[in-house]
Amino acid sequence: MIEIPQEKFQETLDKHPLLVLDFYSTECPPCEALAPKFEALSRLYGQDVHFIKMFRQGNRELAEKLGVRSSPTLLFYKDGQQVGEVLSGGIRRSDIMRNLDALLPEERVREIHSSIKPVVTQTEALVLGAGPGGLAAAIYLAQAKVDTIVVDPLLPGGQVSTTHQVSNYPGFIEPQPGYLLAHNMAEQAKVAGARMKVAVEVNQVDLAKKEVLIDGHETIRAKQILISTGASPRFLNVEGEKEFYGKGISYCATCDAKYFHDKEVVIIGGGNTAVEESEFISKFASKITMVQQLPHLTANKAAQERALSDPKIDLLFSHEPRGFYRRGEKMVVKVENLETKEMKELVTDGVFVFVGMKPNLDLITESLDKDEWGYLKVDADMRTSLPGVFAAGDVTSKQIRQITTAVSDGTIASIIMARELQ
Ligand SMILES: Cc1cc2nc3c(=O)[nH]c(=O)nc-3n(C[C@H](O)[C@H](O)[C@H](O)COP(=O)(O)OP(=O)(O)OC[C@H]3O[C@@H](n4cnc5c(N)ncnc54)[C@H](O)[C@@H]3O)c2cc1C
Repeated sequence: MIEIPQEKFQETLDKHPLLVLDFYSTECPPCEALAPKFEALSRLYGQDVHFIKMFRQGNRELAEKLGVRSSPTLLFYKDGQQVGEVLSGGIRRSDIMRNLDALLPEERVREIHSSIKPVVTQTEALVLGAGPGGLAAAIYLAQAKVDTIVVDPLLPGGQVSTTHQVSNYPGFIEPQPGYLLAHNMAEQAKVAGARMKVAVEVNQVDLAKKEVLIDGHETIRAKQILISTGASPRFLNVEGEKEFYGKGISYCATCDAKYFHDKEVVIIGGGNTAVEESEFISKFASKITMVQQLPHLTANKAAQERALSDPKIDLLFSHEPRGFYRRGEKMVVKVENLETKEMKELVTDGVFVFVGMKPNLDLITESLDKDEWGYLKVDADMRTSLPGVFAAGDVTSKQIRQITTAVSDGTIASIIMARELQ
């Protein structure tokens, strides 16, 4: 792989029928996460595809001409024409391979894939999940000189990285943007010496053997594992929800509220998240209809009062959604009045669903002790029911799920893990 300046781009493109270009920046964690994958793939595909990289800030003119606005961005070329996907952000090895494979004949793709050698990486502690729980643990483990690897299918930060502002994490007088808090936690873990394997495909988790397979070929073998995989939004499982997921129905106000400037939205839910997120969405939307199955809100009193006094928010109590449809540009939410059984339609521009969370344990097949909602039961040392397997943060059974509580769990787990390893 070579680095070229923008002046050499056309000449390089003319010379190499198959080419991939990486626009990178310095002080860019997703670029750092991409670099070893890009390097390894350049060795695997290098005979067929020419791998080049370019410093985006130093070659702005070309970057802008090619429509590149963030780092890293990968562009693929065949016979001088840009083809395939434009990859940016937390780029996975499998994303790059899919686009490289599309450039080559099937036979050659098979040959390349069969030449991939399995790799085994040993470590003392393996942290599954780079949210606040996992990152706090990684900081403590690495500072205690425990060899630590952190694995996450996304870039580090967990739910914090998509939180607009965090005002209750101690140590900051002013509210902090969630992405910045997440970034600082991840950098602190790296500086302490934790190895980060992020934006990877997590294929298999074997807790009994303490092995995790990532990117289809790398087995990470550990002495102890910490599960800090957090929780994800629950789905309603009603008609149209899957179909319009991300195309009219959102589960993240921070990510999508900005698209509803001066528009009407329907919010499903009436708990803490629904009510708190409605305040944020209210900064953008012209009108909010909140659909709550109970005859009252269940959020904390202060949040309820703010929502009830917001002139933009209408509350529809004792109603449940029964289906989502599209009518032209509009979304239609069919709701049932639980008292009268009457159905009616709410016509809106977009829908936000906030009806609770579920633990991220899809890849964990071993039977661990769980509570009735599927969260992991742990003891005071954060041990699960399987020896050498700990859990921390939102994935565990508890009453309060916050950044501080996840960090606290991660701290306890990591100190106990470090003691046992030493
Ligand atoms: C919109 C919103 C706003 C919030 N605001 C606040 C706030 O202001 N203050 C506050 O204290 N709390 C807030 N919270 C709650 C807080 O973000 C969480 O309690 C906290 O992030 C939990 O940390 P965690 O490390 O347990 O899990 P998470 O933050 O969920 O991180 C889990 C990580 O595990 C990864 N993962 C998932 N599956 C796997 C797998 N199989 N293998 C490896 N990794 C995996 C995920 O990609 C993720 O990065 C908010 C939450 C939301 C959704």
